[in-house]
Amino acid sequence: MKYERVHGEIRVQRRSLEITNWKEHKEDLVRDFSNICGYCGKNFIAVRGKSQIDHFIPRSDYPEYENKYSNLVLSCPTCNNKKHGDWPSKNPKIYITEMNEGYIDPADVTYDDHFKRLSDGNIVGITDVGKYVYKRLGFDSRPIAICWKALELHKRTVKFREKVYGCNISSEQCRDLNKIFYMLEELRDHIAYAKEN
Ligand SMILES: [Zn+2]
Repeated sequence: MKYERVHGEIRVQRRSLEITNWKEHKEDLVRDFSNICGYCGKNFIAVRGKSQIDHFIPRSDYPEYENKYSNLVLSCPTCNNKKHGDWPSKNPKIYITEMNEGYIDPADVTYDDHFKRLSDGNIVGITDVGKYVYKRLGFDSRPIAICWKALELHKRTVKFREKVYGCNISSEQCRDLNKIFYMLEELRDHIAYAKEN
């Protein structure tokens, strides 16, 4: 089986910014995370979902991390809700306990050490911490693979559209193709608004 990264080809690169109000930095995070959920890799262009700002170290318990850009993660609402205020220790600096429970910052290069993306689009945890996150974020009961396939479909559609419009096709073929592209867009919207568990 061919494995991929949770983030696919995207490399999350969080800049070091000094901030005073985390709510004003969605655009910065969209840029740094290339518009994907840091945790599950959902692509907000392909699946047209809404993104949110997650605090890696929960701001409910550790308000001193509320306005640290290095603590912000672009997240889908489901990952954000499931993680919520969960933190494995009583110390904001201990993100993995001796029991190997905890979280990895999705902007950290070691994120890839804990998860793999299967060729069917599903995610697996390959370490104890990866398995902990997998469970907490409910990766087993969500349409993770469907979202991944929607991204693949989006990428292929864009490529195909570019290719085909450079060719000599009849107006009837063009109409047919537009209809197909429209249906694909509809399908993606459907995926975006389908309820996650
Ligand atoms: Zn997510």
